[in-house]
Amino acid sequence: MMHEFRADLHCHTTCSDGTSTPAEIIDLAVLSNLQGLSITDHDNIAAYDIACPLAEQKGIKLISGIELSTVHCGVSVHVLGYSFDLKAEPLLAFCKLHRTRRINRFRSILELLSKKNMPINEEEFPADFFQETSYRTIGRPHIAYMMLKKGYVSSIQQAFNEYIGEGKPCYHPGHQHTVEETLEIIHQSKGLAIIAHPHLIGSHTVLNDLLKMNFDGIEGFYAHFPPAANSPWVKIGMEKKWIITGGSDYHGTIKPHHQLGSSWVAEDTFNRLYQHFKAL
Ligand code: AMP
Ligand code: ZN
Ligand code: FE
Ligand code: FE
Repeated sequence: MMHEFRADLHCHTTCSDGTSTPAEIIDLAVLSNLQGLSITDHDNIAAYDIACPLAEQKGIKLISGIELSTVHCGVSVHVLGYSFDLKAEPLLAFCKLHRTRRINRFRSILELLSKKNMPINEEEFPADFFQETSYRTIGRPHIAYMMLKKGYVSSIQQAFNEYIGEGKPCYHPGHQHTVEETLEIIHQSKGLAIIAHPHLIGSHTVLNDLLKMNFDGIEGFYAHFPPAANSPWVKIGMEKKWIITGGSDYHGTIKPHHQLGSSWVAEDTFNRLYQHFKAL
């Protein structure tokens, strides 16, 4: 049976903090009756080496994607990039900078936890977590998971709420990149830049600033949010004649309430991105 065209444009693999491998994500996209997909790992595009040939083989239309971490006025802002050249030097170099930033910050957070009598040894993580050349983006979710495993907290949420969430005693911001710099890198790499999950940006000032920047779109459909919750963002996107994207933010078992395909875009939106990608 032919299904209605649906493309999920926001998901994570084991190349960042998701629990499904790139190969598993492609299989899951098929099982979820998706026809289009973009993998948006945090600060890296390593999944595409494996995902591109598999997607082609299994009939999934795949476009390049990434979710870049930025900070604006002290507030964390995620910027989605789509349809960029997977071999673009500016983006590949930027991913390397993020890698170094994350390794240093990971170690700083472990130090802070140790001072609070919650020691975690580097050796308890897979060795590639600390290798500059590794393909995997490491972050606070990995630390939260380890805190849970070691019995320091009884849930991932507790780890963030009490220790490693923004402003909490064991939080460390690490080096940070601005939104403007990130937009520049995406555009130099021939990609399109989208404001990720605007619903989750708590500050009105920050949001107003973002809406004045050189974005190409906004994520108007997100996770399991009901359409009414999404509509203000869709309206803003339409007023600006921006691309209105959508996706589940699937992370696998670490965020079980975000199922792949729980948010998606239809064929017209997907084709705008797909044609841009194919024309590179
Ligand atoms: P990092 O990139 O290392 O700063 O980690 C950011 C990720 O941690 C986000 O993408 C979320 O998955 C998770 N996260 C951040 N803040 C919280 C929070 N307050 N509660 C639960 N998860 C969070
Ligand atoms: Zn994540
Ligand atoms: Fe995000
Ligand atoms: Fe995400």
